[in-house]
Amino acid sequence: MIINHRVGEARSLMKDLICDEFQNVVGDLLIRHHSILDILSKLSEANCRVNRAVVKSVTDCGCMSVEATKLQIPDDINSIEELRQHMDNHLRGIMCSNCEDVIISELGKLLFYSAALCNTLNINLYDVFITEYKKASALGVYNMT
Ligand SMILES: [Zn+2]
Repeated sequence: MIINHRVGEARSLMKDLICDEFQNVVGDLLIRHHSILDILSKLSEANCRVNRAVVKSVTDCGCMSVEATKLQIPDDINSIEELRQHMDNHLRGIMCSNCEDVIISELGKLLFYSAALCNTLNINLYDVFITEYKKASALGVYNMT
């Protein structure tokens, strides 16, 4: 019960947490790595660590595996839904909770240094989010990148 209550509180907090607040907290915390060079290198490192965490779930933990082949799409596809059925992310298995925790943590650091970069460049993180959201919404199913 206590755990469920805390999860509920955290979800409620997340709903209330806006990008501006996150960006402000990052700005307050980031004292050591204040140079643009430090931020760029930390952002790059965070990206590498996300990739490494996913790879390690395959090569170290083994909860997931990769089975990749060239995508085979029949010529007679008539709808996006039909096309979706032929898409494959090449991942097999189910991510264990340990790997999920590590990947979430690494993604968090990626967000942290993205916000730090926005602070240094005087860009509002929420504007970045909204701009990308509008682009994705406008493109809809044609956004296949
Ligand atoms: Zn795992």
